[in-house]
Amino acid sequence: MVEKLKRKIVVPGDKIGVIEEYIPHDGAYEHNGEILSSLAGFLEEDLEKHTVSVKTVRRILLPKPGDIVYAVVVSTSEKNALVAIISVNNKLLNNCFSGLIQVGSSSMYSMKSIRSAVKPGDIVKCEVLGYNNYIYHLKMYGSEFGVVYALCTKCGGVLVKSGKELKCQICNNVEKRKIASDYSVVGLG
Ligand SMILES: [Zn+2]
Repeated sequence: MVEKLKRKIVVPGDKIGVIEEYIPHDGAYEHNGEILSSLAGFLEEDLEKHTVSVKTVRRILLPKPGDIVYAVVVSTSEKNALVAIISVNNKLLNNCFSGLIQVGSSSMYSMKSIRSAVKPGDIVKCEVLGYNNYIYHLKMYGSEFGVVYALCTKCGGVLVKSGKELKCQICNNVEKRKIASDYSVVGLG
């Protein structure tokens, strides 16, 4: 018998029971004798099996090849950028997936270093190429792909697209990126 507990909603980290009372099931885990939720969703307990679980409202959305994603750049090296995918086909994700943009592969064109294309903290628009080695491989080749939102590396001000460059509204610092055609903040002049 599964009790719906009047559709009680819990979020990740919420205490939903103790280990003497329940066995943690889907969406639940034990930490120092307490059972915590690992998901946002509805709490369910099974009184016969003594289990407690959290059911998500929505199915987990997994990026697939050809999907358009937005991602935050986490770190960069000469040859690749590690990103956290935050949306798939304009649907915001509950949990992030890791992605990789590589130079010298089909994901980037003839750019020598990815550091000249993106910076940590930038939001980029990419297409999903595929998944292997526990990471999504992303394509940033093509005018529609690249940075859509970036902050000034000197002062943190929002960078505004001005021609082929980005200019800080606060300190007038000019920065280069691989700018997507639909960069979010465009200057008037
Ligand atoms: Zn600035």
